[in-house]
Amino acid sequence: MSSVDKVLSARWVIPVDPSNSVLEEHSIAINKNRIHAVMPTKAARELFDTAEFIDLPNHAVIPGFVNAHTHAAMSLLRGVAEDLPLETWLQNYIWPLEQKWVSEDFVRAGTRLAFAEMIQSGTTCMNDMYFFPNVVGELAAKTGLRASLGMIVLEFPTIWASSADDYLQKGLEVHREFSSTNLVSTMFAPHAPYTVADAMFEKIASAAAEHSLRIHMHVHETRDEIENSLKMHGVRPIERLNQLGIVTENLIAVHATQLEENEIALFAEAKSSVAHCPKSNLKLSSGTCPAAQLLKNGVNVAIGTDSAASNNSLNMLEEMRFATLLAKNTPAGAANIPVHQALRMATINGARCLGLDADIGSLEAGKLADITALDLSELACLPVYDPVAQLVHAASRNQVTDVWVDGKRLLNNRKLTTIDETECADTAVRWGKKLRKSL
Ligand SMILES: [Zn+2]
Repeated sequence: MSSVDKVLSARWVIPVDPSNSVLEEHSIAINKNRIHAVMPTKAARELFDTAEFIDLPNHAVIPGFVNAHTHAAMSLLRGVAEDLPLETWLQNYIWPLEQKWVSEDFVRAGTRLAFAEMIQSGTTCMNDMYFFPNVVGELAAKTGLRASLGMIVLEFPTIWASSADDYLQKGLEVHREFSSTNLVSTMFAPHAPYTVADAMFEKIASAAAEHSLRIHMHVHETRDEIENSLKMHGVRPIERLNQLGIVTENLIAVHATQLEENEIALFAEAKSSVAHCPKSNLKLSSGTCPAAQLLKNGVNVAIGTDSAASNNSLNMLEEMRFATLLAKNTPAGAANIPVHQALRMATINGARCLGLDADIGSLEAGKLADITALDLSELACLPVYDPVAQLVHAASRNQVTDVWVDGKRLLNNRKLTTIDETECADTAVRWGKKLRKSL
C-alpha cells in the first residue's frame, strides 16, 4: 500500500501530456509537493484509503497556467493610459509614471495585486520582468506562487540601477539570492533591442552561457522597432541579436510580431521560444505574432498576458481565447490553434520556455503539484462535449475554484489562502489615488 497526503478526484483530468487526452472520473494522488500518480478514481479510492480526498465532482483539473510574460507590479497602472500606440503609451505615459512612482513599496503592492489576480484565474507560475526582482521573489516565496524573476537590463538609469552594468550586477545578486529556492528561478531580462546596446548584449550572452540562464526580452514588438533598427544598425533586430549571440535555445522572444520566413526558420533552428501576448499586441496596435506558423515550424510558442497596464487583465483563460481566435482570423484559418493546442501553449509550452518542463506544465507522476480546478457546471458551459473546448472558448475566471502550487492550496473554494484580499484591494485603491494626482 502506497501512502500519499491527498487525492484530488475530478470529473475530468486534463493532463496535457499525453496531448489531446481527457481522463474522465480520474484522480491525482499528491505526496508532499509532487504528483504521485494519475489514475481512475475507483482505483485511487481503494489504493489510497488513508489519504485526504478532495472531491471536484463538476470540475476540470488542468496543470496550472504558466504566464510566459508579464510585468506584475504594473497592475497598479491598470487602465492608466488607453487607446494609444506602443511608443506613445510607453514614452509619454508609462515611463514618466514609473520614473516618478516606482519604489520597493510600489513593486510590493503591485505584485501582490497581480499575484492575487493570477491565483484567482488559475495561474501557478509567471515569468516577470520588472524593477526590484528581489521584492518579487520574496513575495513569491511568501504567497507560494511560482515565479521566474527577470534580471532587467536597460541603458538608462532608474531607481533600481544607475547603468547597464549596475543592472547586470544587481540582477546577478538576485540570482545568487534565490538560486537555492524551490519556487523562484531567475533569468536575464534585457528590456528590448532598442533599449540595450551591443556591448551589454555580448556580456549577457556570455553570462547566460556561463550560468546556464535564459534570456527573456521584448523582440520585434512593432514595425517602428524594425525600421529604427534598420536605420541605426543596418539590420533587423533579430539579425542583430543573432550576430551578438543572443538567438539560442535560451531565448524567449516576447511578442515577435513582424516576422519574416527566415526569422521563423532561425527561431526553429536555434530552438528559441516565443511568448505570444495577443491581447497586448491587439490593444497597442503592435501587429500580430504568426503563432500558428511558428508552431507549424516547430517553434515553442507560449502565451503571456504582458502587464495589466496594456492588457488590462492577467487572465490566461482570456489570453488562450485571443491566441486561438487571432490565429483563425486568416483565410481558411479555422483549423489553426485547436483548443488542445491552445491549452498546451498556456501550460507545457510556457514551462518549456522557462526550462521548467521537467517539473511543471503537465499532470504526470513525478511532476510538481501545480494544479488548477475549474467548475464547469455553470449554465454557460453546458453541455460539455470536450471540457477543453469549454475552457478555451466559454469558461470565465470565476469558475476557477481551487489552485495548488507545489502541493500547497493557494485558492480554496475561491478563497485566497495566502493573500489578504481586503488589504490587497485597499492598498491598490490607495496607490490609485496617489498616482491619479500626477495624471
Ligand atoms: Zn512586456
